[in-house]
Amino acid sequence: MEYFKIIIVGGGLNGLGCAKRLKENGVEFKLITEDIGGRIKISSDGETNYGAYYITADCHNIMPYVEKVNIVHFAKAHFHKGKECKKCEECKEHYHAYSLRMLKHIPAGIRLLIELFKFRRHHQKVRKQALNVSYQELIEADPYLRNYYHQKAGDFIKELGLESLTNEYLEQFLWAAYFTDPRDVSTAIFLGVLMTLIVPSYSFKFYFEKLVAPFKDWIILDSVIKVMRSGDWKFRLETKSGKIYECDILVLATPMDIANRWLAKPQKIKGGINVNYYHLRGKIKKEYDVAWYNFFPIEEETVISRESNGTYLYFYGQKDNIAKYFESWEIIYKDEWRPALFFLGDEYVNENPESNLFLANDHNVPSTEDAFINGQYIANLILKSITKVGS
Ligand SMILES: Cc1cc2nc3c(=O)[nH]c(=O)nc-3n(C[C@H](O)[C@H](O)[C@H](O)COP(=O)(O)OP(=O)(O)OC[C@H]3O[C@@H](n4cnc5c(N)ncnc54)[C@H](O)[C@@H]3O)c2cc1C
Repeated sequence: MEYFKIIIVGGGLNGLGCAKRLKENGVEFKLITEDIGGRIKISSDGETNYGAYYITADCHNIMPYVEKVNIVHFAKAHFHKGKECKKCEECKEHYHAYSLRMLKHIPAGIRLLIELFKFRRHHQKVRKQALNVSYQELIEADPYLRNYYHQKAGDFIKELGLESLTNEYLEQFLWAAYFTDPRDVSTAIFLGVLMTLIVPSYSFKFYFEKLVAPFKDWIILDSVIKVMRSGDWKFRLETKSGKIYECDILVLATPMDIANRWLAKPQKIKGGINVNYYHLRGKIKKEYDVAWYNFFPIEEETVISRESNGTYLYFYGQKDNIAKYFESWEIIYKDEWRPALFFLGDEYVNENPESNLFLANDHNVPSTEDAFINGQYIANLILKSITKVGS
């Protein structure tokens, strides 16, 4: 058995943010993880992102580790028959974001844009403080954000008169971002994802080597299979490779469904959303042969993106319908996210349920940038707790 004062489990942006901050403050730890990157997962040729797909120019914390690749924009999307769409020549195959049919949505679009600018101001303010204060406290202290964290987007859509715009454009665009009906997520998530309408957004390459370089010798690639309490309030961890580790302070930087398995009192968490995907090369059918993104009515639970190297990412919900979209194909990679995101509900996770146990995850505010900030916030909590014990 090996002993370390601090162990972090999980090498996604939460775990790595925590590790970075501790290292900068001269605090030693071990990071045990199944992989580096977690839900930022890149194809073996380094060209295609299978998890997090885009970042906005507002992601200042992760920007030093990121190379922007392509602009991701609504204008690059082709929409296939929304709910309100009758069979007509104009939309037999697909319609573009900026087509004549958009004209009728201009008043709703303006109302939405005003709200997006407001939301951005509040979210940016919270992000600036979130290295030192929890997202929960910051959101609950801001009446605007609090309201939107707890409100369902379906109600917001009705209040703002966005139904028609949502039926024809937003629901298709948003299914591609979080794989469910946008009316079922919170207004905060709804607006957060739509930031890409007002802030330049990019597909990206993440340079994990640069981020982990200062602490790469403190990383152990392994899978934790059991977490137990030892008698003197230490944690004992068992791994898949048969190793046992003990620590005084434990950071669980895994998604909440996994962390919950090991908590003395599992926490109530939001519902997760599952999705499956293929990365493939092949011949797409003529009606889907568009420059970038094919968005579909949500019932179809599909998004297809043509990547810059000519390969395709095909995400789908329950039903694999590959033959509907492709004439021929060769699978480069196939996998699933179970779950991809926790977007259904408005519960908060308590990040410090016991004095020496910390939960670093994207449950309360999901996104790459917020995960990285949150991990650093958890490190700051640990630094405070160590200083308190030491003094
Ligand atoms: C399909 C998809 C699309 C997305 N799109 C975007 C997007 O466009 N923009 C955006 O900002 N965000 C997006 N996200 C969300 C973003 O990826 C996450 O919010 C963020 O990466 C979460 O980081 P994390 O560190 O909290 O969790 P994760 O990245 O999930 O990290 C968890 C870590 O824990 C490790 N782990 C799990 N179990 C164990 C175990 N038993 N033992 C050891 N290690 C373990 C994993 O290996 C992993 O390294 C997307 C996510 C998905 C899945």
